[in-house]
Amino acid sequence: MAWFKKARKPIAPSDGKASRVPEGLWVKCPGCSQVIYNKDLAANLNVCPTPPCAHHFRLSAAERLRMLFDGDWTEHDRSLTSTDPLNFTDTKAYKARLKAGAAATGLKDAVIVASGAIDRIETVVAAMEYEFIGGSMGVVVGEKIARGIERAIERRTPIVIVCCSGGARMMEGALSLMQMAKVCGALARLDRARVPYISVLTDPTTGGVTASFAMLGDLNIAEPKALIGFAGPRVIEQTIRQKLPAGFQRSEFLLEKGMLDLIVDRREMKATIAGALRFMGATQAAASPVAAMDEAVAET
Ligand SMILES: [Zn+2]
Repeated sequence: MAWFKKARKPIAPSDGKASRVPEGLWVKCPGCSQVIYNKDLAANLNVCPTPPCAHHFRLSAAERLRMLFDGDWTEHDRSLTSTDPLNFTDTKAYKARLKAGAAATGLKDAVIVASGAIDRIETVVAAMEYEFIGGSMGVVVGEKIARGIERAIERRTPIVIVCCSGGARMMEGALSLMQMAKVCGALARLDRARVPYISVLTDPTTGGVTASFAMLGDLNIAEPKALIGFAGPRVIEQTIRQKLPAGFQRSEFLLEKGMLDLIVDRREMKATIAGALRFMGATQAAASPVAAMDEAVAET
């Protein structure tokens, strides 16, 4: 037995929580490599504040609603959940994926549909949540969006859909693909009712979402440098056997090719949407008694 056997102690105490820098206090910007204080980023709607970078970090669905609505909103169909109709398992059971998604986001599926006021215009907004299985569209997402559109028709209020999705949810097979037709059918009725629809495409908007409602807005507005496409670049290169041009499938490229109407910085998004809705004839002031009183006072 050795005389000088030293009890091995870790150099830094592993349980010394006080000495540890809190996680996620700083973020490195993928656009300009600057290190940004998290609070500064949040105060800037998750857009890199270093000029001229303005990298748009992803927003959660709830943050998106907070950014667009004047104040509180009413959420619709919150309790809808997938029944896992195919009892599907790939590397993991679909049920387990649903559970993990719910734990990560506090939502039951990958979209929040709510009504509220955008600059005092009563509007239905559907915001997709990427953290829930890649924002994929299954039966629940399709149903919630379709109901949101129906609500917009009924009340004659415009609808804004903020897309952020990897496409159709393969774990629900053909049922997920049917959502494309269902939502598009509802949008056609909305169009016949002459109620405005604005599609906001954010990073990423791909697959079945691009191939259906994302591209059907009366206005299709994208955030800068968002990835927008149907199939991924590798699949396309292999299919057409050609090298793809630089910036392919980014907002700026798509705007140049006429696939989008506008690219708008997130910090201008709310004002742009409100302006466009007014231009399209949306005049309904929100049913807030305070706003109504303000108007009454202004009129007299
Ligand atoms: Zn940056």
